[in-house]
Amino acid sequence: MFSTRIKIKELLLSEKVNYQATVMGWVRTFRNNQFIALNDGSTNNNIQIVATLGMFDEATLKRITTGACIKATGEVIASLGKGQKVELKADSIEILGDSDAEKFPLQPKKHSLEFLREIAHLRFRTNTFGSVFRVRHALSFAIHDFFTKKGFIGIHTPIITASDAEGAGEMFKVTTLPLDGTAPKNEDGTINFKDDFFGRSTNLTVSGQLEGELAAMAFGNIYTFGPTFRAENSNTTRHLAEFWMIEPEMAFYDLEDNMNLAEEFIKHIIRYAMDNNREDLEFLAQRLDEEEKQKPQNERSEMGLIEKLEFVINNDFERITYTEAIEILRESNHNKKKKFQYIIDKWGIDLQSEHERYLVEKHFKKPVILTNYPKEIKAFYMRQNDDGKTVAAMDILAPGIGEIVGGSQREERMDKLLKRMKEMHIPTEELDWYLDTRRFGACPHAGFGLGFERIVQFVTGMGNIRDVIPFPRYPKSASF
Ligand code: ATP
Ligand code: MN
Repeated sequence: MFSTRIKIKELLLSEKVNYQATVMGWVRTFRNNQFIALNDGSTNNNIQIVATLGMFDEATLKRITTGACIKATGEVIASLGKGQKVELKADSIEILGDSDAEKFPLQPKKHSLEFLREIAHLRFRTNTFGSVFRVRHALSFAIHDFFTKKGFIGIHTPIITASDAEGAGEMFKVTTLPLDGTAPKNEDGTINFKDDFFGRSTNLTVSGQLEGELAAMAFGNIYTFGPTFRAENSNTTRHLAEFWMIEPEMAFYDLEDNMNLAEEFIKHIIRYAMDNNREDLEFLAQRLDEEEKQKPQNERSEMGLIEKLEFVINNDFERITYTEAIEILRESNHNKKKKFQYIIDKWGIDLQSEHERYLVEKHFKKPVILTNYPKEIKAFYMRQNDDGKTVAAMDILAPGIGEIVGGSQREERMDKLLKRMKEMHIPTEELDWYLDTRRFGACPHAGFGLGFERIVQFVTGMGNIRDVIPFPRYPKSASF
């Protein structure tokens, strides 16, 4: 019987009038004991429900409070008020769930994002988070859609992993051993994991790439889309301890194929959101505009959100090598005037986010793909270039965010891979299963990782990554 309800989005979109309908949702406001603004999460637009004076008893009216859940049935009519085309003239109103107006933390006024983060269990019921999470869903769907249409196979890689060799970040331990100091120890004082659940030391994964490569050596093209964990103590607006990552891995791809795919992929999912979530993006654009107005003139971004997204879809990403980037940075006035916290003085250093942002926001003013990094600052599995100094890596940098994608062509040549692993003290025995891909039918291949929350940030214009995942995990915070 509950299935007879009409979603508010559908009802408002159709603009049909003179028919009976049932809506259910949560009260945003109740004015003059007569006009209810009801929201059901299908859109930020509320339906106005008119409770004709004298039709409902005092006791019922008293229970129509901000936050209460109600069911209303009546005739959909053309609206007399401004702001909406149709409204619902209620014949019956049923209170499904009361909400004590005194105690309900969300008041019909503007709350700060910081405050809403503390009540993340209720912030879904605000316009900002309604829009953010509908867009997040659309992007997630678009990702599966993109790869499925291209014939990629989705692979679920393990969340608990025994390998901690990749070095992508600090790991969280997983154990069933007692934590009160009574866990069995080895002679050297380290924990003996023989009696642990898996009989060995295990962690939460930092990346599904190594397992993804195995699948690519059978299916050709695969992608993963799953949670990853990093116990890095990064209190930034771009780092979470638990985030979702998309990691495609493609056999018979070189670095250029890899860049082409990544660029096409990013443009596709942004376009999908633009085509399917226009209303939410326009709401978020307006929110961002208001936020920008609070900033001093010289810190405001030149483009609005929609403009920025259109620009990204319609223009090629800039592609330059790490070496060229270092030249640009070294020669920049910013560097000469020592405005960077980390001065660029020599080839080989890792780029900080201030450098990445300078390149995309000040110099090129568009997304940039940086390639061929020094091997010393990149992972062991990246393919070594003939110059003996660089590897076939590529990072994609986006305005306002910095790195959104990290990828590379993989080293398929066993001798070179083993040599590099030894140099970097990566235990080869532990990764013997991985090395089998190079033993049995190795082929040129490439892949990348896209941080899902970073692209959600980019598309929604939200400044803090903690506001684009429902329940963020970060240092000293794991509420809900
Ligand atoms: P960064 O330099 O920004 O910390 P990284 O070099 O550690 O990134 P990779 O290990 O290459 O990143 O991970 C692939 C992608 O995952 C990154 O491009 C980024 O989009 C995302 N990512 C990495 N770390 C985090 C994190 N802590 N929270 C959210 N997303 C992340
Ligand atoms: Mn990192």
